[in-house]
Amino acid sequence: MELRHIKGYLFDIDGVLLLGKEAIPGAKELLDALRSRGKHVLFVSNTSSRSRLQCIEQFTRAGIQIADEELFLASEETSHYIARLKPKARAYVLGSKGLYAELEKEGIAILPSENVDPQAVDFVVVGRDRTLTYDKLTTAFQAITHGAKFVAVNNDPTVPGRNGLEPGAGAIVAALSAMLGRGPDINMGKPATLLLEMAAQHRSLKPHECAMVGDTIDVDIVAGNRAGMTTILVLSGNASREDLNSQAAQGDGRPDIVVPSVRDLLDMIA
Ligand SMILES: [Mg+2]
Repeated sequence: MELRHIKGYLFDIDGVLLLGKEAIPGAKELLDALRSRGKHVLFVSNTSSRSRLQCIEQFTRAGIQIADEELFLASEETSHYIARLKPKARAYVLGSKGLYAELEKEGIAILPSENVDPQAVDFVVVGRDRTLTYDKLTTAFQAITHGAKFVAVNNDPTVPGRNGLEPGAGAIVAALSAMLGRGPDINMGKPATLLLEMAAQHRSLKPHECAMVGDTIDVDIVAGNRAGMTTILVLSGNASREDLNSQAAQGDGRPDIVVPSVRDLLDMIA
């Protein structure tokens, strides 16, 4: 497949450019090569709890320099999106302190976690909430049934934790969806397309001018295909070659290009 027409490369981070604390071999060289050819490089992360600073530091420690404006986090884009829909919106938030801070930065009023009138809520925003309680779930549910918009920062069922996998935002989204009998009104993170679209729009790029590079078929590749971008699967993280034969890799999950790792893209971008 031809990549000459691609003007913007959107990268998932974990398993694509970084593996734990280390850079994936060839990641720095590929980013340098793309930048020197005048291509846009954008980093799109589903995170609802890691801050911008933490993400940039993670790159820096791995020896990769990224620019602030190249990084797009689902939590921040959710805040921008809500602020654009309804300035000074009132939000009930199931999420981290970091998510609270990002919403507040955009002028969104965060309602207290207890004793909230469900009718006073404009948006219920769901990220990863380590202090989730039955009462908070109840308030969130009631607010949505009273007309608040149901917003998912991402739909990741699990995320890596200190001692193995932990519930992600998607687990809480699923609990609310089960109660409501429907999914969120607004889905920011991959496999939804909004995060990718917002990143591309920032550079005035059309979807067909973009490539989405990811390591997870049912998240990165599905999002890229649904957004109308060229999709590139790397096998340096989540997905293995065997996964390409799975049901998930059909239809929207079928990548346009499969390479062992970002290093192999170096020869293809010329
Ligand atoms: Mg990944």
